[in-house]
Amino acid sequence: MNKILIVEDEEAIANLIYMNLKNAGYFCEIAYDGQEGADKLSENHYDLCLLDIMLPKINGYELLAYAKSMEIPVIFLTAKGETADKVEGLRAGADDYITKPFEIIELLARVENVLRRFQKVKQTIEVLDLSIDVSSRTVLKQGKPVKLTYKEFDLLLLFVQNPNIALYRESIYERVWDAPYIGDQRTIDLHVQRLRRKTGLEKQIETVYKVGYRFNLK
Ligand code: CA
Repeated sequence: MNKILIVEDEEAIANLIYMNLKNAGYFCEIAYDGQEGADKLSENHYDLCLLDIMLPKINGYELLAYAKSMEIPVIFLTAKGETADKVEGLRAGADDYITKPFEIIELLARVENVLRRFQKVKQTIEVLDLSIDVSSRTVLKQGKPVKLTYKEFDLLLLFVQNPNIALYRESIYERVWDAPYIGDQRTIDLHVQRLRRKTGLEKQIETVYKVGYRFNLK
């Protein structure tokens, strides 16, 4: 699942973007000023950053440089009429920009575009006898399609992107279900059981006592 950071000090705009991206299936977080944005960037991994230019504490240009140093694609959010900012932003390395106010459909299209561009090299993950196509969300096992549900696919992706790490049920739930974990162990366990069976990863996806699961890859 793609993780997006929204750095925007206007709460209404930030929340609007958040809601819409979340509904479109993205995992999002909001930072309401530049400092919070920098903190979040340094503490988490994001696939994309939506960045306002005029921000309290640390401005958008400084954050842009910071995000680029971590190779995170950036879409600038500029206010209407700030043409100079737009040009400056692109020159400084922003991957795209959106002018406020914008239509949600435009926002989603630009987000999708930038994500697609950046994942070009890593669209397909080959692991053991599986070939996982991230953009089309399809899985082949020895060349034959494996039918996974939406959550099972996200779960598989989470495992293969975090090999040899014990993942707590709590964080699995938060990442795949995008909701706080309230002890719904059965849901996770059932999904893991089905995923194991469908992908033939019975041995690799190991139950870690009292913790959760670990995807063993040697
Ligand atoms: Ca602002």
